[in-house]
Amino acid sequence: MITEDRILVEGGWRAPASRETVQVISPSTEGVIGQVPDVGPADVDAAVKGARRSFDEGVWRRRSVEERTDVLGRALDMLEPQIEEIGKLVTGQMGLPTSMSGQVLASGIATGRYFLDVARNEPVSEVRRGQTLAVVVREPVGVVASIAPWNGPFNSSITKIFPALAAGCGMVYKPAPETPLDSFPVVEALLAAGVPAGVLNLVTGGGDTGRALVAHPGVDKVSFTGSTATGREIGGECGRSFKRMQLELGGKSAAIVLDDADLSISLPGLAGGAFFNTGQVCASYSRILAPRSRFDEVAEAMVAAAESFVVGDPFDPATTLGPLVSQRQRERVEHAIATGIDEGAKVVAGGGRPDGLEKGWYMQPTVFVGASNAMTISREEIFGPVAVLLPYDTVEEAVAIANDSDYGLHGAVFTTDEERAAQVAAGVRTGSFSVNSYTYNVEAPFGGVKASGVGRDTGREGLTSFYELKTINITPGMEPLYGA
Ligand code: NAD
Repeated sequence: MITEDRILVEGGWRAPASRETVQVISPSTEGVIGQVPDVGPADVDAAVKGARRSFDEGVWRRRSVEERTDVLGRALDMLEPQIEEIGKLVTGQMGLPTSMSGQVLASGIATGRYFLDVARNEPVSEVRRGQTLAVVVREPVGVVASIAPWNGPFNSSITKIFPALAAGCGMVYKPAPETPLDSFPVVEALLAAGVPAGVLNLVTGGGDTGRALVAHPGVDKVSFTGSTATGREIGGECGRSFKRMQLELGGKSAAIVLDDADLSISLPGLAGGAFFNTGQVCASYSRILAPRSRFDEVAEAMVAAAESFVVGDPFDPATTLGPLVSQRQRERVEHAIATGIDEGAKVVAGGGRPDGLEKGWYMQPTVFVGASNAMTISREEIFGPVAVLLPYDTVEEAVAIANDSDYGLHGAVFTTDEERAAQVAAGVRTGSFSVNSYTYNVEAPFGGVKASGVGRDTGREGLTSFYELKTINITPGMEPLYGA
């Protein structure tokens, strides 16, 4: 049991004003494994004011990019040897199997280093010579409120905190109430590495804490990853107050298997895309589109893949699929499966709780056939290990089905023909797309169109989104002051 009774606000750790707490529940044992403060409005106010004050005083933003990235690099150096320990926290909180957590967390560290490289190499000013002379300066956007989901907690904290601090922003970070524990070592490392007091603030809690943070007038930008419903609420608030926003929301991504696909090559990407992290990935392939001529073959392959996962205790090294994060999440997934059956689709793999696992929120990897794209299971994000297989007759129809969605986050094509791959990639309207794989590429922008969100995380763009542009109309001779 880990009890954290502190929050980081106004430059130091202190006890929260409110006595309310959030309990962290193990998804595999259903026991309480931790407790953190459920931060109320008074502490949110203190956190934002602390970030605001340090930002306005310039204690961090006035340092050079090199100095800032050196400090942040030291934090990553301190975190790297802790991967195994922090991985156990992640597994304990949300069930990512330890057979995968080492690799997942190492990619989080690599993402942090990537952002620091970008920050060092991206110009922060550019002289424009035309009819007049101007310099366009990139300045930190200000105080950022960062709000994370539970499905990749350590990696979310890196993706949210490092680019914002590298750009010189002040910030308040709020992890998800299901997975707050791993944020403490991350924040400890940042402070020990030399991030000055007040620049970084940590508050824990749920939706009310997040809502107070988003509404706070001292916040300049909200960086949010989570559900589309919450994103819509945050977007409304940010629109009214003109806060900048970056919203990474839900998805219902379609993987299109073309008639020439080599299933022996495609299957790891298709099955990994549908079931990795027990399907709790915004970019997962929750719809799999197969040509009618090969539908049964694709369905059989997906059933075999679904049944090959070892569902069980995430701390057992043999496990490849852990539990869902919470009882609420399993109820949602079970409700979605029941709705699919009610609407006429047929379960050909999984569909229920696995035998022999009495405790824990486990769910079998599930494959649906006999579905249409109009059914609820094809339209709403399930966020569980559920793949809906849909038949199509022509490639044009497949692209139309992929696009017939409120979401537009990710998608894929599986084919042996590179030209057809490029055509399909051009036709599907999403923020990212993969060919013959299930890929998350931190060096390229990631984000969505339509109800999948606004803005881009990762890539150069993930860092530069924490800058605001300022045009300074200068007089001839001033260029060297701006490095030109
Ligand atoms: P959620 O929206 O319920 O919660 C996400 C975070 O927002 C949590 O920290 C929560 O406490 C906070 N929050 C809740 N209500 C809030 C409010 N009104 N104002 C401010 N903050 C609030 O989402 P979840 O169920 O925790 O996460 C799962 C969802 O996240 C899925 O829909 C998934 O697709 C999405 N997701 C998207 C991406 C992406 O990059 N696009 C990545 C991971 C998860």
